[in-house]
Amino acid sequence: MAYEKHWANNDKINATEKQKLKMDGLEIFQKIPEYARSGFASIPKEEWPMFKWAGLYLQRPREEGYFMMRVCIPSGILNYDQVVTLAGIARDYGRGIYDITTRQAVQFHWLRIEDIPDIFERLKRVGLSTAGACGDITRNIVGNPLAGIDPDELLDTTPIVREVYETFQHNPDFSNLPRKYKVSISANQKNASNAEINCVAFTPAVKTIDGEEVKGFHVKVGGGLSSRPYLAETLDLFIRPEEVKKVTVAITTIFRDYGYREKRTRNRLKFLMADWGPERFKEKVLEYTGPLPTKGTDMLTDWNAGYFYGVHPQKQEGLNYIGLNVPMGRLTADEVLELARVSNKYGNGEIRNCSSQNLVIPHVPDDQVETLLQEEIFKRISVDPPKFIGYAVSCTGIEYCNLALVETKERMRKIAEFLDKQVEVDVPVRIHMVGCPNSCGQRQIADIGLQGIKMKSKETKELVDAFEIHVGGTLKQGGEFNRKLKGKIDSQHLPAVLKQFLLHFKEQKQPEESFHSFVHRVGVDKLQQVLDEILERTLPKVAS
Ligand code: SF4
Repeated sequence: MAYEKHWANNDKINATEKQKLKMDGLEIFQKIPEYARSGFASIPKEEWPMFKWAGLYLQRPREEGYFMMRVCIPSGILNYDQVVTLAGIARDYGRGIYDITTRQAVQFHWLRIEDIPDIFERLKRVGLSTAGACGDITRNIVGNPLAGIDPDELLDTTPIVREVYETFQHNPDFSNLPRKYKVSISANQKNASNAEINCVAFTPAVKTIDGEEVKGFHVKVGGGLSSRPYLAETLDLFIRPEEVKKVTVAITTIFRDYGYREKRTRNRLKFLMADWGPERFKEKVLEYTGPLPTKGTDMLTDWNAGYFYGVHPQKQEGLNYIGLNVPMGRLTADEVLELARVSNKYGNGEIRNCSSQNLVIPHVPDDQVETLLQEEIFKRISVDPPKFIGYAVSCTGIEYCNLALVETKERMRKIAEFLDKQVEVDVPVRIHMVGCPNSCGQRQIADIGLQGIKMKSKETKELVDAFEIHVGGTLKQGGEFNRKLKGKIDSQHLPAVLKQFLLHFKEQKQPEESFHSFVHRVGVDKLQQVLDEILERTLPKVAS
């Protein structure tokens, strides 16, 4: 279906928009084989950003010509052949590094343009793709990692996610959106795919229609993080499972044709939604879809933040899924191969990625669970991790990311390990670290969000890595973003400051009180005072 790019005559559109008018992002797929033969130096610089449409970013420093590659994994669900293929790519081309992202995808690093055709071929053989993993296009569709096996799901979303994913894959009608576009489709009643922070999110709902109870979805629109975060708002619509594709196409068309294309910082769907409001947005959706019922009953009951540690019964009797911790979402290729072997031996070979950067191995029969847990790999990839390492999330950071101000993954891992030795607390505290104001590590929904900045050290007067602390984020009860406490903390003092801050939480909290409830009970002003005192007491030279 051809469509008119009505913005083509607007001379205020940003430079990326101008480039997208010259060359559609998906065209890079045709050019990659030629560039693989002629080498990195033959790629015109203005085409570098277009590689995103093929899931490829140049890692820092760009001039060295190494790529990061992101692979789409709808709902995070991988079969055995796919896991082995991904591990093989990491081993053969990516220096053995295998990263699980907060959108259930997998990322590789250190790829050269010469490697890409073979990698694409390997992915194609097992039904995987990088198309749309990055760029101004429909990104990896996130969903319930337990789809089909979940005692907490209203319905199995696997076929719906597949249908929507295939609709948008390599689809030139939707390859030129104003900005990145994130879709979530989940019927997990504990909001395992973080609905409210997506551009579009389908969440479980029921409605009585003609005397019959129908299972389906509500739809939330306009969520997103980054420096101006918004929580998605629910439209007054009820969507039957067979209508999810139609509604997604309608919303994506609205974004493409009415979304903003001038300032790059104001192009996400959240800004259009904020200007229009849910009522106007709903009316526009109905123009495309035809009549839809109004809202039914919301079936979201809680938020589990994408954590599933331990052994749990599936909805299929006699089978279990095992939730595992992957510290900071990073595995080696050998570890992935070993997990694939274990999953194939005791389960059906599947591995499922969670939004918490962790894994699930499904389909383990009752009588195999104990033997499976004896496997050596589970000493590091634990079913019962310590509290801080188990609930720490980190973005890629300066190791590979061009936008990063500071290193994150290794730093977050060390801090979490330190806190596990120093602070014993009865509830998990979710700490997320990001290397810049963007939100690949979803800092805004963390109990404690740590955002990297640069500051002049008061001790050495040199520019050093530092962090700002944000407290009290959640997606429970509709969601709330965390709030910044004043003060910049030199990274070398960060572990000690966090330790004291968390010891205060431990001493002042009520039994079983969550960090989020604690923040609400004592208030951000009180926590600011606590942080100020910690900085004054321990870091008199660096307190700001
Ligand atoms: Fe890079 Fe910032 Fe994303 Fe971290 S949050 S990976 S530093 S863009």
